[in-house]
Amino acid sequence: RSGFIAIIGRPNVGKSTFMNHVLGQKIAIMSDKPQTTRNKIQGVFTKENAQFVFIDTPGIHKPKHKLGDFMVQSSINTLNEVDLVMFMVNAKEGFGKGDQFIIDKLQNVKQPIFLVINKIDEVHPDELLPLISFYKEKLNFKEIVPISALNGNNVNHLLEVMESYL
Ligand code: GDP
Ligand code: MG
Repeated sequence: RSGFIAIIGRPNVGKSTFMNHVLGQKIAIMSDKPQTTRNKIQGVFTKENAQFVFIDTPGIHKPKHKLGDFMVQSSINTLNEVDLVMFMVNAKEGFGKGDQFIIDKLQNVKQPIFLVINKIDEVHPDELLPLISFYKEKLNFKEIVPISALNGNNVNHLLEVMESYL
């Protein structure tokens, strides 16, 4: 099994940290400047029966200039071409306008969308279920998986669930 996985989420939710954890090296940090690197292959992760090609898709945020609309659309087009979309949010910080902007754009995406709730090491376990219920109302996510990209908690489980979609 192999497939392309697009990673989206507002800045600082932990996308690069996740990539680094999975790929085992600091190759995900290429540019944190918004809208400079679009749809870049971040790395290929191979396990026994599966190969994951991760694509960073940083263009999905409210455009600051005229070219921005085009870039947002270009990123959305990418999402419709991958096998799986991984939308990462921050468990600690709570839901923000940036998250809502992305969710609005995701309404038109046909591919399976995973919600990955990152930084669970920073919240009390009791806060997790309400958070999951909250996000279930927002979009029809195929899967909702809480992880800690920093300490690796539940990351292998996430990869296994992903594998079942490839
Ligand atoms: P990106 O902008 O989405 O690529 O986010 P980064 O991967 O650069 O992470 C932003 C900050 O959040 C960094 O300081 C990371 O160390 C921190 N971070 C990422 N994942 C986790 C996590 O699971 N737990 C905690 N506590 N911090 C995290
Ligand atoms: Mg990053």
